[in-house]
Amino acid sequence: MEDKREKLKSFFYKINDCQQCGLHEDRTRFVFGSGNAAAELMFVGEAPGKNEDLQGLPFVGRAGKILDDLLESINMNRKEVFIANVLKCRPPGNRDPVTDEINTCKEYLFEQINIINPKIICTLGKYSTQLILDTSHGITGLRGKVFHRDGRTILPINHPAAVLYNPSRIEILQNDFLRIKGLLDSGNKTEPSPVDKENDDKEDNKNDDREQLGLF
Ligand code: URA
Repeated sequence: MEDKREKLKSFFYKINDCQQCGLHEDRTRFVFGSGNAAAELMFVGEAPGKNEDLQGLPFVGRAGKILDDLLESINMNRKEVFIANVLKCRPPGNRDPVTDEINTCKEYLFEQINIINPKIICTLGKYSTQLILDTSHGITGLRGKVFHRDGRTILPINHPAAVLYNPSRIEILQNDFLRIKGLLDSGNKTEPSPVDKENDDKEDNKNDDREQLGLF
């Protein structure tokens, strides 16, 4: 645990001044991710929004409140999990990430996954799902199915922000969180879904940093 925390901290200090794509020009804060460095369960969202950009923490806005409530519904909280995004900097006006940005930033996420080594990755929405599963399939067909990659279980679910546009979607998310709990409780022994089988062959800032690192 301590080892993972130290590795994650060093990685944070290595990349938090990243200027590899244009997004750094408008960012307030680099949003590395937060949570438990030894988490068994990791969530991957899309990109920081306005609140995340201001606070330097993932999922602190309205979608974050939904994520917190969903975690609470399965008796968990964000100190037990790790939460990161595909992109570490906010796209202007919360526009969708573009391919170049994803390709530039993805190695950061992959290294975080490598260090944390979670048993389960829950991808939130289209962008993280497509990246982690290396697929161009849409989220609708993948949602709720269990995949296996590199010895990990991957569960794509809807992005919590979907509930903000369509409140009835909360039930689907609540059921998918029960699924997550089931996977955790069973030591995530499940059969891969058919789709998976098909695919298987293929100091100012220091204060801010402490806040961000505080949850590791
Ligand atoms: N949406 C995301 O995908 N990530 C965040 O951190 C916040 C909102």
